[in-house]
Amino acid sequence: MIAVQGLVKRYGAFEAVRGVDLTVSPGEVYALIGPNGAGKTTTLRCLATLLSPSEGTINVSGVDGVRHPREVRRTMGFVSASMGLYDRLTPVETLEYFGRLHDVESGRLAERIPVLVDQFDLGEFKDRPCGRLSTGQRQRVVLARSVVHSPSVLVLDEPTLGLDVLSGEAIYRFIEDQRGEGKAVLVSTHHMDEVELLADRIGVLAGGRVVAEGDAESLRERTGEASLVRAFIRLVTEDA
Ligand code: ATP
Repeated sequence: MIAVQGLVKRYGAFEAVRGVDLTVSPGEVYALIGPNGAGKTTTLRCLATLLSPSEGTINVSGVDGVRHPREVRRTMGFVSASMGLYDRLTPVETLEYFGRLHDVESGRLAERIPVLVDQFDLGEFKDRPCGRLSTGQRQRVVLARSVVHSPSVLVLDEPTLGLDVLSGEAIYRFIEDQRGEGKAVLVSTHHMDEVELLADRIGVLAGGRVVAEGDAESLRERTGEASLVRAFIRLVTEDA
């Protein structure tokens, strides 16, 4: 469960996030969409405890994210398009490293790594340094790494950025599996087809505020538009 209330983030005098409330329940996929600069990454980075909010509360699986960021990281998997891997580590070493970082017990980690290698189809390149992997291969390692500690909540910032259709599909399947396992999944994206396919609920962010929330059908109805893309454009331009 993710619950954010009154989230404000200022960079100096500039307010990038201006009072965001949102909740994501277990077994729910919530898509955060919005134009460039709307505040999606800032919101997600606050949630992932990589930025501290200027105001507001963050609760992740019952843990106060502002007071106990370390505990939140234990219960959360975070993926971002800009997230690096250590180029000299292989996928298996990466999973070992992050597993230990998240205090996964060594016996459990030894069992879990082959499962993840299989699940994310890393076998062919599992012992090759990450620096020599393709974008899609790297992204599969990043995803595997994000769940090495079996988190109950996932926060994904543009997980399909730069990926081809097949790699994108693999990520959809990953997100669906996570939902099936009862995890709360918050994902930001610019791809409306992704949103249509996956999201149980959508939050439209513009100018640092959630200007509309609901499923795809309700956003189309609310705007009188036939497509989600058109509904999105109307919602963000009306707000501007
Ligand atoms: P995009 O879709 O382009 O990735 P976004 O919705 O993720 O955009 P953010 O990256 O959260 O948007 O940025 C929100 C606003 O905050 C933008 O105006 C951005 O320029 C500003 N911003 C982000 N990081 C900083 C920073 N470190 N210092 C100052 N301003 C920042």
